[in-house]
Amino acid sequence: MHHLTQFREKIKAEALRLGFARTGIAPAQPAPHYQEYLEWINAGYYGDMHYLARGDSLAKRADTQLILEGCQRVICLAMPYHRPEAPQNECPPGHGRISAYARTSDYHAIVQARLTQLEAFIHELTGGSTALRSYVDTGPILERAYASTAGIGAIGKNANLILPGAGSYFFLAEILTDLPLPMDEPFTRDLCGSCQRCIEACPTGCILPNRSIDASRCLSFLTIENKGEIPDEMKSRVGNWFFGCDICQMVCPHNARTDRQFDPLGEPHLSEFINLIELLTWEQAAFTDAFQDTALSRAKPRGLIRNAAVVLGNQADRNALPLLKDLLTRESDPVIQDASRWAIHQIEGDQE
Ligand code: SF4
Ligand code: SF4
Repeated sequence: MHHLTQFREKIKAEALRLGFARTGIAPAQPAPHYQEYLEWINAGYYGDMHYLARGDSLAKRADTQLILEGCQRVICLAMPYHRPEAPQNECPPGHGRISAYARTSDYHAIVQARLTQLEAFIHELTGGSTALRSYVDTGPILERAYASTAGIGAIGKNANLILPGAGSYFFLAEILTDLPLPMDEPFTRDLCGSCQRCIEACPTGCILPNRSIDASRCLSFLTIENKGEIPDEMKSRVGNWFFGCDICQMVCPHNARTDRQFDPLGEPHLSEFINLIELLTWEQAAFTDAFQDTALSRAKPRGLIRNAAVVLGNQADRNALPLLKDLLTRESDPVIQDASRWAIHQIEGDQE
């Protein structure tokens, strides 16, 4: 066997040992789906994630050479995370739901640590002269497109990468390299067919016809990256989602399995539902304590309080009224004021 083919098999075996359920190798050039991405940017679907539209960020997405000189391949990796357990519409009163990926220890750190181990393995294999650069989730790279070119899965209508037989509850990661590893066959099958379930179930109608999302209207963006007010027409659509949204994945038939998949990230730190009435009484230190080591620790309490008020407003729970009124008088932050005023109005109606 050619030594590069041997390297590829050894790298895949080591990746599997480190918890990556799938590994595929894609050519670095040309960047797959870049034109569609550019159209998405030009249409302004990125919400206020303005960094995505910056020239340097676009240039890197178009050309991996700007990230790693001599880049030849993108090693694409997928690590499973704990799937949601409770049914989609279930939520105890006074509680809010947390997106499944955010319940575990902060995956950036854990996945990055495994990538570093895999890099060390590759260095050892190749005698240390290989150029490597790894990313998890946030790199300037069209990761789902590369993962599909690397044969790992197909991009579904909900814009998630679907792995055949395994669904979409996966973190994606990449290692860019100048090592000319043999490439995998691209994944060309459509896993959606005539299914429309995600499009029909999305509470904000933000799934676009070309397998992308209008992030400016997606709850995952509105409740996490968005630092400002949640627009009034979107607040009622937030439903019970306190942090993120999994609906378009929960309804997907590819995620219909009920068994618990192997979870290299370990047991989730947070429960699926969080008591929002309690959360509204927390001081800063309580936020730090409750969310340390999870993705929620990177969100400011301000955004979390905003989300809590909106969810409580949606539940129209009168028990939340005193706390929301207290919030309105105590907090001068306009984003919190806006959310609590709206929630109070939802609960009291026009009778005040
Ligand atoms: Fe729609 Fe929620 Fe999916 Fe965003 S995450 S596209 S809001 S269903
Ligand atoms: Fe594709 Fe249906 Fe899954 Fe949407 S719900 S991603 S249309 S299979």
